[in-house]
Amino acid sequence: MRDQELSLVASVCRYPEWVAPTTYPYPRSYHCQAGKNFENPTQPYRIDEPALSAYTTSMIRILVIEDETEIASFLRRGLSLEGYQVDVAFDGTRGLELAATIDYDLIVLDLMLPGVDGFEVARRLRADSNVPIIMLTARDAVRDRVAGLEAGADDYLVKPFAFEELLARIRAQLRRRQAAQSQDVLRFANLTLDTRSREVRIGERRVELTAKEYDLLELFMRHPNQVLTRDIIYDRVWNYDFGGESNILEVYVRYLRQKLEANGEPRLIHTVRSVGYILREE
Ligand code: CA
Repeated sequence: MRDQELSLVASVCRYPEWVAPTTYPYPRSYHCQAGKNFENPTQPYRIDEPALSAYTTSMIRILVIEDETEIASFLRRGLSLEGYQVDVAFDGTRGLELAATIDYDLIVLDLMLPGVDGFEVARRLRADSNVPIIMLTARDAVRDRVAGLEAGADDYLVKPFAFEELLARIRAQLRRRQAAQSQDVLRFANLTLDTRSREVRIGERRVELTAKEYDLLELFMRHPNQVLTRDIIYDRVWNYDFGGESNILEVYVRYLRQKLEANGEPRLIHTVRSVGYILREE
């Protein structure tokens, strides 16, 4: 079990040297998820490609509505280890309360709940939200599955289920949601970037960018407030590794800043020393 858990932590962290068996699983996995450099707290944390996806994952909030405490705590633990932020409600009413106040990315909803049952919860959620719902049901009757889907569930899983299967279905739903949400026009602060026309504006001012400058800015705007390492940027924008010797990235960041700050606009692309860059407001 320990090895299995360790691999779960590693899959959250993807930073094997950060996951020392002697200190498993805390505080290292926690610090990794929280994006802190626990080795040297005064230094900015390192984040590379796999860790970036984990970092992104940890921003994803999942609500589990399940009255069986054992299953609920199993799900809370398993999903947390996968890097998701998990809240648990033990009945439908509490679940609806939480869903009304927190903007969840996905809801795992048990069908058989005391009080307001899963069908009713799904119907009420659907009244004003398109949050993905995966319904858990102990019954395999076609009637129940159909009713669940008609009530607004996006997918269902029959208990007992393999945790890996739930994970796969969660990922599938999140991908669908992400695709639906991926907008044509990206906005950050007073920046807008139209991915169809490749037009960039800061406020009302049109900014003319070269192809690479545009690609670089689009990468930043798709990952606002996240540290992007030089390696990630080289990989995504130039599609290969320059090896750390090149200063081409610094040159392009300088061009971008000059164009974005030409009228004295506040800086949005900030240097994270010895790591990379971040798009954020001061
Ligand atoms: Ca139940």
